[in-house]
Amino acid sequence: MSPVTEWTWPSGRWGGIGTYLLALWLEMPRRMSIGRLGSFEFPAGWYLYVGSARGPGGLAARLSRHQRRLGAQKQAHWHVDYLREWSTWGGAWVRPGAERLECAWAASICRLPDATVVVSGFGASDCRCPAHLVHLSTLPDEEWILCFLGVRRWGTVTNSGP
Ligand SMILES: [Zn+2]
Repeated sequence: MSPVTEWTWPSGRWGGIGTYLLALWLEMPRRMSIGRLGSFEFPAGWYLYVGSARGPGGLAARLSRHQRRLGAQKQAHWHVDYLREWSTWGGAWVRPGAERLECAWAASICRLPDATVVVSGFGASDCRCPAHLVHLSTLPDEEWILCFLGVRRWGTVTNSGP
């Protein structure tokens, strides 16, 4: 599966808070420092990350931030910022609303057949989940994501092969 290129940006009406699932593609294995968690070897492949956006600007602001690289407008803050820096955007799925679904979604992606937790506690500083990030050799079906998590697609994943 190749990195994702196509991207559609919703206008206005998704500005609220909610939960999101982010897909990132890491082309080559790489050792990365993840803030205070330490330094870890990340295998190449797909990563799924679960987060929630509850601050000003909600989902739109958060996903827009995740799309950008670190720089003057973006200092590393979340664990995922470090991984994002070396990976390719792979799409995002969102569920607007105040319901707290983050940990339930994290449990769901951890149960995917080839899911592995690369860094214990990644994205899960405030809860008891093993992690809010898993490594996968292939992404789950779009259908699984949309049905199982009950989310709407935000970005578009294209997979025309390597
Ligand atoms: Zn959690």
